[in-house]
Amino acid sequence: MYWRLNRIQYPVYNLGPGVRIGIWVQGCSLGCKGCISQTLWTKRNGKNVNIAYLVNQIAEVQDCFDGITITGGEPFEQYEALIAFSAFIKKKTKLNIYVFSGFTLKELIEMYPDRLFMRYLDYLLDGRYMQEKHDNQNARGSTNQNLYRFIDGQPILQDELFSSSKWSLYISKEKQVFMTGIPKSTDLENITKELEKVGIKMRFL
Ligand code: SF4
Repeated sequence: MYWRLNRIQYPVYNLGPGVRIGIWVQGCSLGCKGCISQTLWTKRNGKNVNIAYLVNQIAEVQDCFDGITITGGEPFEQYEALIAFSAFIKKKTKLNIYVFSGFTLKELIEMYPDRLFMRYLDYLLDGRYMQEKHDNQNARGSTNQNLYRFIDGQPILQDELFSSSKWSLYISKEKQVFMTGIPKSTDLENITKELEKVGIKMRFL
């Protein structure tokens, strides 16, 4: 089975607990106003990745990481791939799985009554990004979003979020700059200014 992904990046320190492998899925139809990941909306970008191959690669390096964070894009719009990947990871590794979704938990339960995601995922940060409710804690996009932990297939609402004051930049061979983390409202402006100081002009795709 194949999964349409934008990129895989590691180590990631600011999207969930501990040191993580980040997976960005390609494709999202939710169209939140102010989304900073609009290049991930179309399914035309990205590439198909073989899930069995990816899981085997991750299993070989699992000792270096605490978990995997899946974001995007909208992970639940490729539900079968998400469940297959997560089930394989649970079978072959001890890594926890943290997923960012634009759907609310209530919507996901209605959309996927098999509730398999509640068995294979460890954390879910749910809900659309709402620009007018932008959160400045580096832990979630907006304050309407909630973090759940799944224990024995049941969702437990978490009081504490995994906040981080850090964000990081990754520059690809194609000279594209990717920001990892959840920015405060002024962060993108600051990143742009800092990069300009070293001669890199930002152009948001
Ligand atoms: S769900 Fe996420 S990726 Fe999709 S539009 Fe909203 S913020 Fe952007």
